[in-house]
Amino acid sequence: MHLKNRILVTGGCGFLGSHICDELVNQGHEVLCVDNCFTGTKRHVRHLLEHPNFEFMRHDVTFPLYIEADQIYNMACPASPIHYQYDPVQTTKTSVHGAINMLGLAKRTRATILQASTSEVYGDPEIHPQVESYWGRVNPIGPRACYDEGKRCAETLFFDYHRQHHLKIKVARIFNTYGPRMHPNDGRVVSNFIVQALKNQPITIYGDGSQTRSFCYVDDLVEGLILLMNSKEEVTGPINLGNPTEFTILELAQRIIDITGSRTQIVNKPLPQDDPKQRKPDINLAQKELNWTPHMSLAEGLKKTIAYFERLISE
Ligand code: NAD
Ligand code: UDP
Ligand code: UDP
Repeated sequence: MHLKNRILVTGGCGFLGSHICDELVNQGHEVLCVDNCFTGTKRHVRHLLEHPNFEFMRHDVTFPLYIEADQIYNMACPASPIHYQYDPVQTTKTSVHGAINMLGLAKRTRATILQASTSEVYGDPEIHPQVESYWGRVNPIGPRACYDEGKRCAETLFFDYHRQHHLKIKVARIFNTYGPRMHPNDGRVVSNFIVQALKNQPITIYGDGSQTRSFCYVDDLVEGLILLMNSKEEVTGPINLGNPTEFTILELAQRIIDITGSRTQIVNKPLPQDDPKQRKPDINLAQKELNWTPHMSLAEGLKKTIAYFERLISE
């Protein structure tokens, strides 16, 4: 883990990708950040641009990429429903063609490649909490399918390249993650509620707010991803990474109102189609294989995230 590696981070200008770049540069690795800046921004890596071990390249992963690397974090893909439904065909292409190109690159360079998969592969689950052996319940033709099925197909490709070409693969199923550098307008629940609370605008709860999610702070997640990348070769995943403490969306709203001291009101809006009713990771496998457990409480993580959005709004 302490050897200097050449590491490619696709989607490196995004929320998660930019935190991965920070940590890898910090550990002394050479990092190439590749991003088409669709939902991410160069501002997230601005502080790294002058660093001798960091490089940024504007590139769309649906096109081939020939560079040298020892490790690849394949993070490129819009992640929030508003963003991935904006151009659903491009979303599927990013997941599928992007995976094929990055797997082709890993095959040529013999790099270890990690895929940012998602809890959405479980769809609207009948098994709770979700374990890796559960195959999921996904609507293949609904508005979320471009993302969910794209990510499922990417997992298929990863395992076929592993079986057929003996690639070293790592598949992380990431559950809802939040923290600084989330996009303020991407419609995700944590960023929406914080921005609404800070602006004293109504907090928009979709449905009655009884649906649940489990929220992982970004630093915990990045630690888990880097441990997975550097795990023993036989650890391929899929492996759940997320915080197993479960909250209803109504509880989340209440906490954000309490911490911000906002004078806002809660309003109810219709529940989007195919919105999963409950989600919570079973992280026994990550605990066993990676010795990883998230530590940040929701209260502490929200305080840091709220401080970030306060600065962003005041700028
Ligand atoms: P994000 O939108 O902030 O980051 C994605 C990055 O990928 C952006 O910088 C975007 O510009 C870039 N990108 C999109 N399409 C691209 C393309 N064709 N070529 C090159 N770059 C492209 O989202 P995020 O929350 O940081 O998510 C990162 C990854 O983690 C995604 O693959 C997402 O599916 C996965 N994930 C995230 C979460 C979460 O809660 N944040 C949960 C599960 C999975
Ligand atoms: N590829 C790439 N960079 C590389 C090697 C391959 O982008 O360094 C792309 C290449 O364009 C190809 C894809 O990855 O379409 C899959 O590569 P693979 O070798 O698996 O397939 P093949 O080239 O045999 O179709
Ligand atoms: N949600 C909400 N109000 C908002 C945004 C989202 O009530 O302003 C709900 C949404 O319907 C879902 C949950 O919060 O039940 C999490 O939504 P998000 O888009 O953040 O993540 P995902 O559904 O992909 O887990």
